Amino acid sequence: MEFSQYNVNSLMYITPRPEIVFTEGRGMWLTDNNGKRYLDYLQGWAVNCLGHCPAVIHEALVAQSQKLLNPSPAFYNAPMVELATMLTQQSCFDRVFFTNSGAEANEGAVKLARKWGQLNKNGAYEIITFDHSFHGRTLAMMSASGKPGWDTIFAPQVTGFPKADLNDIASVEKLITDKTVGIMLEPVQGEGGVIPAAREFMQALRALTKKHGILLIVDEVQTGMGRTGELFGYQLSGIEPDIMTLAKGIGGGVPLGALLCREEVACFVPGDQGGTYNGAPLMTAVGIAVLKTVGQPEFLAAVKENGAYLSQQLTKLSDDFGLQGERGEGLLRALKLGQPIGAQIVEIARNMEPFGLLLNSPRPDLLRFMPALNVSKEEIDQMLTMLREILAQIKK
Ligand SMILES: *Cc1c(COP(=O)(O)O)cnc(C)c1O
Repeated sequence: MEFSQYNVNSLMYITPRPEIVFTEGRGMWLTDNNGKRYLDYLQGWAVNCLGHCPAVIHEALVAQSQKLLNPSPAFYNAPMVELATMLTQQSCFDRVFFTNSGAEANEGAVKLARKWGQLNKNGAYEIITFDHSFHGRTLAMMSASGKPGWDTIFAPQVTGFPKADLNDIASVEKLITDKTVGIMLEPVQGEGGVIPAAREFMQALRALTKKHGILLIVDEVQTGMGRTGELFGYQLSGIEPDIMTLAKGIGGGVPLGALLCREEVACFVPGDQGGTYNGAPLMTAVGIAVLKTVGQPEFLAAVKENGAYLSQQLTKLSDDFGLQGERGEGLLRALKLGQPIGAQIVEIARNMEPFGLLLNSPRPDLLRFMPALNVSKEEIDQMLTMLREILAQIKK
């Protein structure tokens, strides 16, 4: 495709992309280069927690870009310290290291756990992860992830990530040896198809890790920052993990992530961890603006309420079309189609006129919904009306 004088084949081919170029976004809506508008239920992949181009992020970027972009990670800067303080005040963690992505935060979590294992557990280094989990695309995180096939694409693999089954505590227990230093999971498996870890399972994992003196690590790159209706997904089960990672929502659309841990686990010494952009004020200033908005009790209450509404309406849709129900937490939800028609629905939805609908199908028989956390009931209804139309067309 030619886009004015530019050629899309100048880019590496990493995923099939539709023949459109997005040029603007506002709230739940995107606009392409032909002026067509799309109701966006991807939101940069659960990233734009306040929708496209929210005023608070625009203002934070403008204000900070006039003050200081990057003094280097060898110095403190005000937004970095302020955001770390806010995060520790609002979570069970004491220390924060900022990153540029989720995969980088998870890499840091694994390094921290292995270091802690060297100091406290005779060099134990294995971290139990789960089938169908997703932790990012660096070499080590592709090994940590439970995506089928990912263990061989870029062999040799980074070792030390045995896989258990989600919501099956016996499968975890079986893998614990004197080499085990921790267990890492997503409170809701996102890319795996929106599969929540049961509250009892999270509690059993906390008890099991305490019993063996090993670490519980939550990857909240997708579930953190209000997505589930709690500020952090671990709060759904009333447990307190040892390490947490954040990204996606915390930047509201800009590259920002974080690695958080409790004081007892904070064992990095100078030289162990770092990076040129880590904690840069331009991004951490955005994080402050996002957390100030998302952390409000009224904001989280609205996420819960809209999540419950979406859940109820998806259930109704499922009943009406003989589908297999829905699942999820807060505003991270999936509709179980019962047939491999996900890709077909995504395609039809995007091509609808006068405006399109952007949906995601993480599995052939599943649709995933990850709207902005400030989505309105009207925007939920509008999506459901369009989806109903598509299902009626397909099921005819
Ligand atoms: C998206 C995601 C990642 C990877 O984050 P990147 O910023 O793309 O590196 C890791 N873990 C989970 C649970 C995610 O959803």
